[in-house]
Amino acid sequence: MWIPITIDDYVKVHLKKNPNENEKVLRVRIEAALDDYNTGVKCQCGKDIWIVGSATAPFACFSCITGKAHPQAEYEIDSALEKRDKYGRRNIDEMDPGQIGGIFTDEGYEIDPDTIKKPSLCLTCVRDNSQDWEDDVLCNLNRYDQRNSKKFKCGSYEKI
Ligand SMILES: [Zn+2]
Repeated sequence: MWIPITIDDYVKVHLKKNPNENEKVLRVRIEAALDDYNTGVKCQCGKDIWIVGSATAPFACFSCITGKAHPQAEYEIDSALEKRDKYGRRNIDEMDPGQIGGIFTDEGYEIDPDTIKKPSLCLTCVRDNSQDWEDDVLCNLNRYDQRNSKKFKCGSYEKI
């Protein structure tokens, strides 16, 4: 769960706890992290970066900075939260159309491709490890659609 906070309020809270830190530097780092966030820069693991955490650490997501799976009442800059729900998911309806890419559930939630299981059939297919971004999305979409079926079928399978 996130606690939305404005940049000005966060700077106040942070400086109260860390009186020796430089306000200017802190603001520059927050703005830089927010800029990265808004242009679609992700953590090395593929998730959205955590602005508040990235202000005082190398830019990364909440999990990579803290080692915890989900935030429990942590601050996040409000403008970065508008696009995410309390589980950290993003919905296609709230995304900038220029940034939409990848796979979404029927309800419009973004799916992390790393969470989609890869059937053994894919391991002998030329399309696996394809450098083509679109190939990758189509394969993942097919895998996701069949996530609950016992036998995986694929119309574009091509043996290596
Ligand atoms: Zn990460």
